[in-house]
Amino acid sequence: MTDVQQTLVLIKPDAVSRGLVGAVLSRYETKGLAIEQLQLRRIDAAFADRHYAEHVDQPWYPGLRDFITSGPLVAVVLSGERAIEAVRVLNGATDGVKASPGSIRGDFASSNQRNIVHASDTVESAEREIGLWFPEGVSE
Ligand code: ADP
Ligand code: MG
Repeated sequence: MTDVQQTLVLIKPDAVSRGLVGAVLSRYETKGLAIEQLQLRRIDAAFADRHYAEHVDQPWYPGLRDFITSGPLVAVVLSGERAIEAVRVLNGATDGVKASPGSIRGDFASSNQRNIVHASDTVESAEREIGLWFPEGVSE
């Protein structure tokens, strides 16, 4: 049985400023995931608070908000077989130092804040985040 899902990925400002957008997108494409939506944009603090609603009370959140609003990022909707889990595995552990080599964070990050990518972690968060970032909808 197939289980095709959509998930939201952010290629964060550190990756954009380091010229890694193509390298990161390539990981997803070579895995077999399809790009359904893609947009370069810069977000403000209020939008960051909506995206990261579950984290706004964390002591490290102000630093994350400064980082995620510091420059342009790339928002992407990917689709494919069990895409939510597939992308989380490709991304690797949150902390780039601990992330396995071969994962995106393991290969490109050495920080637990400036860690190259975001990805939805459940079906519910994927639906919420895709609706937040692409309210006009995603074509099938
Ligand atoms: P993930 O992005 O792997 O789902 P979390 O949802 O736990 O990780 O955290 C969201 C984002 O907040 C992380 O990707 C990272 O950029 C940042 N972050 C998480 N934990 C910390 C921390 N202890 N210090 C600074 N930034 C953090
Ligand atoms: Mg998370």
